[in-house]
Amino acid sequence: MPDNELQDTLNTAILKLKAREDAFKQFESISNLGSWEVDLKNHKTLWSEQTYKIYGLNKEDLTPTLEYFLSHLVEEDLPRAQKALHEAMIYGAVTSFECRVKRDDGKVLNILLNGKVVYDENNIPSKLIGTTQDITQQVSLKRYSDELSQLIEYSSNEIYIVDYNTYTYLYVNKGACDALGYTKDELLSMNIFAINPTLAFEEASAMKKLLTKHKKILNKTVHQRKDGTIYHVQAYIHALKYNGMDAFVIFDTDISQTVESQKLLKEQEHKLTHLVNHDTLTNLPNRSLLKDRLSQDIIALKKSFNKLALLFIDLDQFKKINDSLGHHRGDEVLLEISKKLQSLVKAGDTLARLGGDEFAIILKDINNIQEALKLAQSVTAIIKEPIQISGTTLFISSSIGISLYPQDAKDEHDLIKFADAAMYKAKDEGRDNFQFYSSEMTTLAFERVVMESSLRMAIKENQFVVYYQPQVDALTNTITGMEALVRWEHPSIGLVPPNKFIPLAEEIGLIVELDRIVMKKAMKQFATWYGNGLKPGILALNLAIKQLNSKDFLATLLHIIKETGFNSEWLELEITEGQLMNNPEAAIEKLKQISSFGINIAIDDFGTGYSSLTYLKRLPLDKLKIDKSFVRDLPSDEEDVAITKAIIALTKSLNLQLIAEGVETQEQKEFLINNGCHNIQGFLYAKPMPAQEITKLLNKSNEI
Ligand code: C2E
Ligand code: CA
Ligand code: CA
Repeated sequence: MPDNELQDTLNTAILKLKAREDAFKQFESISNLGSWEVDLKNHKTLWSEQTYKIYGLNKEDLTPTLEYFLSHLVEEDLPRAQKALHEAMIYGAVTSFECRVKRDDGKVLNILLNGKVVYDENNIPSKLIGTTQDITQQVSLKRYSDELSQLIEYSSNEIYIVDYNTYTYLYVNKGACDALGYTKDELLSMNIFAINPTLAFEEASAMKKLLTKHKKILNKTVHQRKDGTIYHVQAYIHALKYNGMDAFVIFDTDISQTVESQKLLKEQEHKLTHLVNHDTLTNLPNRSLLKDRLSQDIIALKKSFNKLALLFIDLDQFKKINDSLGHHRGDEVLLEISKKLQSLVKAGDTLARLGGDEFAIILKDINNIQEALKLAQSVTAIIKEPIQISGTTLFISSSIGISLYPQDAKDEHDLIKFADAAMYKAKDEGRDNFQFYSSEMTTLAFERVVMESSLRMAIKENQFVVYYQPQVDALTNTITGMEALVRWEHPSIGLVPPNKFIPLAEEIGLIVELDRIVMKKAMKQFATWYGNGLKPGILALNLAIKQLNSKDFLATLLHIIKETGFNSEWLELEITEGQLMNNPEAAIEKLKQISSFGINIAIDDFGTGYSSLTYLKRLPLDKLKIDKSFVRDLPSDEEDVAITKAIIALTKSLNLQLIAEGVETQEQKEFLINNGCHNIQGFLYAKPMPAQEITKLLNKSNEI
C-alpha cells in the first residue's frame, strides 16, 4: 500500500475512533457513568473524563490513584470497600458495590462501582477496569420515598387506597389494620362496603361523581371493626393514580371521641337546663318554665282564636302537715299530689310546681270556661281523696284560682298575677273552693254547668215540647204552614224559651239529638193533622247546621218521615243565613240531595248574615225569610224600609218565595203587602202555640 493511501486509511480509522470516543463520552455523560482502570502492578490509574467530573476534578488537578479513591471514601465504608477489592482479586469481579465518597469540595456522593479484573498472559491479575456511577440522586429519591412510605404506613390515621372501579382496597396502612382489627391481607381482599355498614352503593357512586368535580371531599361516616363494634370517622378523600390505575385515597380520622364528647356535652347541657327549669322534688316544670310555656301557648293561641285557662292550686293548711309530720313526710305528700294532678293533665298541657304547696296547670285550647271549671272540680276532688302516709290517713283540700286568656289578660304576667289573686279569693271564701278571676265567670260557669247537665237530663226525661206558629197568606188570610218551635218544660222552672238553651245545646253538640226529637214530634203531629183531614200546610223545621253536617242526616230524615207517616212534600227546612254562609260550599251537595226529595229549603233570619249573590244562585233554595229585626220598625225606619224593599226585589229576581217573620202590627203587614210580600208570620196572627190549640184552630177553619 502506498504511503499516502496508508495515511488516508489511518486518518479514516482515527476519525472513526474519534467519533466512537465522542459517542462514548456522550454516553458516559448521559448516564452519569465514568470509567476507570487501575494497573495492579504499579497502582497507576486512568480515569475517563466523566469520572473526573463525578469527583468534581479536572484532568490537570490530579493524577488519580487507587489510594486517592480509598482515602476519599466515607470512613465507615472503607472496610467494606477493602473487602470488596480483596474479593475482586479472588473472584475476578466486583458488582454493584455501593459506597459513599467525600469529594474535595465537601460534597458526599453515592456511587455505584462495577469492576472486572484483567489477567495477563500468565494469568496474573494485571488490571482492574470498571465504571463509577453517580447514584446520589436515585439514592436520595429512594430514601425520600422510603421515608414517605413509612410515614404513610405508620401514620396514626387510617389510610386506604381504593380501586376507583371495584371499590376494593389496593393499599391499607397499619393504622387501618389496627383500627379495624383486620390483617393487611384480609383488608386487601375486601371492599369499602365491608367496613362502612351505613354506606350504600348509590352514595358511593355519588361521592365518586363529586370527586371528579372537586378532587377532594370531606365526609363523615361510621366504620365497623372485625369484632362488630363501630366508631365514627371523618374522611378526606382524594382522587389519584395508583400504579397507573384510577384510584382514590381515603384518610380517615377516628372522631368517636369528639362525637361522644359532643353527645356528652349535649346531655349535660340538657340536664342543666332541665335542672334550671324543673322542681327537684317532683321533677315538674318550675315557675320559670311555666312562664315560658304560657307565653308560647299564648302565641300559638293568637293564631287559633282559642281560649286558655291558668289554674293556681294551693293546698289548704299544708303548713300543719309539715309541722306535725315533718318535712320529709310533707315531701311525700307533695309527691303523691303531684302524681294525682299529673293524671288529670292531658298531653300538651302543663302542670308545674311553683314552690311549697303551690301547683299550676295551663289548660290550653279550650272552647268554653266549662272546661276550666270541670278541671277545677276534678282537681278539688282528686286532692280530697284521702292520702295514706306511713300509717296516717290525711285529708287535704285545695283552693284554686283561675284566670282566662283572653278574657282576663292577654299576657303571661297578668294571667299569673290574676290566677294568684283568684286563688287568694278562694282562700278568703273559706278555702276548699275555686274562684275565677272575674266573678261573673264563676257564676256563669256554674250556671252553665248546671244547665248542661239538666239539658242532658231533659232529653232523657222527654221534657221538650213543640209549639207551632202559623204562617199566613195575608191576601187570603189562610194558613199556609206552621213553624215548629221547641220549648223546654222544666219541672221546677217552668217553660224555658229556646234562646236560653239552644246556643248551649249547639256548643256542646246536643242540638243534633234535640232537633231530631223536635223533628219526630212535629212530623208525627202533622201526619195526625193531615190524617184527620185538617190542613196545617207545610211544616217549617229549624235546622242547625251541625245537624245538616252530621253523617247520617239524610238517612235519619228519610227514616223519620217514613216512621211517622209524614210526606216529604209537606216539609220546609229553615237554616239561618249566618250558619249557612259560614261554609256554603260544604252545604251545596247535601242540600241538593235533600231538595231532590221535594223538600223545600228556606234561609232563616235573612239580612243578618252576609250572603253572596253567587251562593244564593248556586244553593238549591226555595224561600227567604226576612228577619224580624227589619220588620220591627217598619214602616217608620228608613233603613229598614230600604233593606226590606231590597230583599223583596232580590227574591223576585232570583225567583224565590218570601216570608216576613215577627209581624206584630197592621202597619207592618200593610207595608209588606204593598211592597209585594204577602206571606206573614207573627204575633199579629198568632203566637207559637201548643199542638192542641192549633188543632182547635184548624178545626174551626183554615182561615185565621
Ligand atoms: P227563629 O227561627 O227566628 O224563630 C222565630 C222566633 O220569633 C221564635 O222565637 C218566635 O216565637 C218569635 N216570633 C214569632 N213571631 C214573633 C213576633 O211577632 N214578634 C216577636 N218579637 N217574636 C216573634 P222562639 O220560639 O223563642 O225561638 C227562638 C229561636 O230559637 C228561633 O228563632 C230558632 O232560631 C231557635 N229555635 C226554636 N226552636 C228550634 C228548634 O226546634 N230547633 C232549632 N235548631 N232551633 C230552634
Ligand atoms: Ca226559624
Ligand atoms: Ca227567624
